Amino acid sequence: MAININANAPAPKERVNLLGMPRPALAAFFAELGERPYRAEQVMNWFYRAGVDDFHAMTDIAKPLRTKLSAISEFRAPPLMAEQRARDGVVKWLADIGPGRAVETVLIPDATGKRQTLCISSQVGCALDCSFCATGKQGWNGNLNRAEIVGQALQAQRYAAARGGAISNIVFMGMGEPLLNFDAAMDAADVFMDDLAFGISKRRVTVSTAGVVPRIYDLAGRSEASLAVSLHAADDAKRDVLVPINRKYPIAELLAACRHYLRASGPRRIVTFEYTLIAGVNDSADDARDLARLLANLRCKINLIPFNPFPGDAFGYRRPAETTVARFQKLLWDAGFAAMRRTTRGDSIDAACGQLTGSFADRTRRRARHAARLGSLAQEVAA
Ligand code: SAH
Repeated sequence: MAININANAPAPKERVNLLGMPRPALAAFFAELGERPYRAEQVMNWFYRAGVDDFHAMTDIAKPLRTKLSAISEFRAPPLMAEQRARDGVVKWLADIGPGRAVETVLIPDATGKRQTLCISSQVGCALDCSFCATGKQGWNGNLNRAEIVGQALQAQRYAAARGGAISNIVFMGMGEPLLNFDAAMDAADVFMDDLAFGISKRRVTVSTAGVVPRIYDLAGRSEASLAVSLHAADDAKRDVLVPINRKYPIAELLAACRHYLRASGPRRIVTFEYTLIAGVNDSADDARDLARLLANLRCKINLIPFNPFPGDAFGYRRPAETTVARFQKLLWDAGFAAMRRTTRGDSIDAACGQLTGSFADRTRRRARHAARLGSLAQEVAA
């Protein structure tokens, strides 16, 4: 009996995952195989538009090439671990990103079902540790690759299609800071906007950042995607606490980067500013006026997000009263801003902004971890 004992034998080569590969990269992949670049278009069409992932079924491709493609490449999305549906139509999925790692994706249909916004994750956890965000409390556990990012949208697209709908908007507002996972996030955004893949308009694919300033300049040169900035405060002293990356890139630098983005991306572009309203922290009439003064002359709209509570919040933050939210919004309107109030959706399954932690399957452990971590934090502060 022949036994292969040659330890130096090359390991079987991993297949190239074509999921999430932008069209030019896919064309280059075919060029390397000695094939014409339009093969990229054929394969994308089969996969994203027709939903066919078996190369053997791609009938306008010559058989030998189909065989070769199935041997060396694949379309592989991360497996799903769980699905939860909220009473208000919001759906949350948990995707398996390897041992002990998971990310959440949230589909948010509006009342008509015409607008279906998908909120995707770009990292496992987050390194930025904004004081009011649950994701930050678990720390950073790695980047997603482009297949893991696009895979979330694929899953949601199939879910929506099975119910006669389609995703209309994709926002990088799940777990993680997309601009700290720049290449994968930009590649994924390209695929979302490509007509042969998701075909979503550039105004409806939004990359949201807590303010990684150098990468905002890079974004302006690299992508057509829309930009959202999580501002949350109009002065540095306050923002330093809420969004600690502000200590590195203060508000003036952040807004300079936004102005650059606007100049680079054409006269019809705007920046969306997200502003989480926290009772007694950043929700006063003065806060609203400061915000209006800060953003005067900047093409933008403002999304107001009443704070969503989460277990393990060490600061004891609270959501402002309805009247306070309304006053804040009115002051912005009076100053001429488009200020929308983001309604809280998916609350019953912890799927609202800032509640994603990638562990809804294991909430008890999460609570224990939070408690342990906060305990040690408290000790540090006390020391
Ligand atoms: N890191 C990126 C992407 C996350 S987006 C960013 O910061 O923009 C998630 C949005 O929800 C951000 O605007 C964030 O500030 C906001 N958010 C986080 N925690 C929240 C909470 N507990 N309540 C309401 N909004 C929250």
